[in-house]
Amino acid sequence: MSIKIYNTLSRKKEEFIPREKGKVSMYVCGPTVYNYIHIGNARCYVAFDVVYRYLKYRDYNVTYVRNLTDVDDKIINRANEEGLSTKEIAEKYVKAFHEDMNGLKNEPPQIEPRATEHIKEMIDAIKCLLEKGFAYEVDGDVFFEVQKFKGYGKLSGRAIDEMRAGERVNVDTRKHSPMDFALWKAAKPGEPSWNSPWGEGRPGWHIECSVMSSKYLGASFDIHGGGQDLIFPHHENEIAQAEACTGKEPFVKYWLHNGFVNIKEEKMAKSLGNVILVREILKKYDPNVLRMFFISTHYRSPINYSEENLEAVASALERLKTAVYNINYLAKSSIVGRDEESKVKQFEKTIVDVKGNFFEAMDDDFNTASALGVIFEFVKEMNLFLEESQKNLSVRAKDLLLEARDKLIELISVLGIELGAKKTADEFPDSILKIAEKILNHTFNDKNEALSALIEGRERARKEKDWVTADIIRNELNAQCFELKDTPQGCQVIFKGR
Ligand SMILES: [Zn+2]
Repeated sequence: MSIKIYNTLSRKKEEFIPREKGKVSMYVCGPTVYNYIHIGNARCYVAFDVVYRYLKYRDYNVTYVRNLTDVDDKIINRANEEGLSTKEIAEKYVKAFHEDMNGLKNEPPQIEPRATEHIKEMIDAIKCLLEKGFAYEVDGDVFFEVQKFKGYGKLSGRAIDEMRAGERVNVDTRKHSPMDFALWKAAKPGEPSWNSPWGEGRPGWHIECSVMSSKYLGASFDIHGGGQDLIFPHHENEIAQAEACTGKEPFVKYWLHNGFVNIKEEKMAKSLGNVILVREILKKYDPNVLRMFFISTHYRSPINYSEENLEAVASALERLKTAVYNINYLAKSSIVGRDEESKVKQFEKTIVDVKGNFFEAMDDDFNTASALGVIFEFVKEMNLFLEESQKNLSVRAKDLLLEARDKLIELISVLGIELGAKKTADEFPDSILKIAEKILNHTFNDKNEALSALIEGRERARKEKDWVTADIIRNELNAQCFELKDTPQGCQVIFKGR
């Protein structure tokens, strides 16, 4: 089975055939570093993080490049506002961006080029466009002449006449056509600038991305991603610059664009002043909740942000965590029963099928919404089987439940969601060993074992109505960042971390 991707360029779903077998080259437009990112920006980075993770899971060797635009009008304005240099502003917000990406549990791209470190390559590309007659210079500015490039408009599906109809009144009269865009901007006093054949100046935004993507991925590559607002003019211009200069077509085989985040039926955008910062949301919610909120809608569709929607996602996530917890708990129970052959057979099949169903959903243009549907359906089956097995646990049933749990954790981690069942013991404080020894008069070497013994000790104490011991254990564990919740399946332990 092959992956199908909706390609903005052809406006249809196409079979995904990378240029080189088994390898994928992918570029995503990164941030202009002049401010903290909001959740509208974050959706793009999470959407393509999932694409990246899934392609790797399907055994592709993926080279993922995401740039940093660290020279721009917005950065210059911000520097003036904050009384810092443009360099200081860029550094400050690059650091903040990385913090937010880590906070969202996005995997870093392999290459993260910065515009200011590629000025020479940009100057070379502009020289190439001038030599080939696609660009012209006026007073130290260089413009791309849109009319000279035949394919202009092929990505956005706009005809040139149509684009002209929307021209603004205030156009630069030095341009041959109002649609022409800047490749190089002559320096204004106090702005960062570099020396060039056209005098001091700096590159335009569009040339940054076509130059940095082709430097690391070649003149033609597989996937280019970004938000839908970048289709025109940014990506349209990238195609024009790249294909005009190299003569190679297509510059990019598959163009992918994610939908907006809306808030109260309006697009979330800095210019509209209705933004919610990633760092604000991450103070209130687990990153897994925010990720699950994004991926519960297909990446191309708009998504509505509201606290209620986040709360709904948070409780759905809790269902998955509870399922894992319940199986972990059951795994400690003793074997009493024998298999009911038909039920075991049926559940075996459920476990075998889930991966195929998950692939089918994700292969269909990375449909994370249906992939999550597959996962929740699977968890429903797991819970049913668990409930039946509880009364009469057999060896086979226990093994199957553990296998199902691992499958769940594996598949959801492809979407970047951690159910946190495996590694946690390493993070437990060492003091847990001492506490267990003190309370239970028994030496432990394994932190997980010490925790289990304490939980069992507490349950025993509660059964014997020895409330003092039960409370001591609870308080000691609380002090070590373990939260205890008593549920019908037993005591649920959540490690809050140090
Ligand atoms: Zn870009």
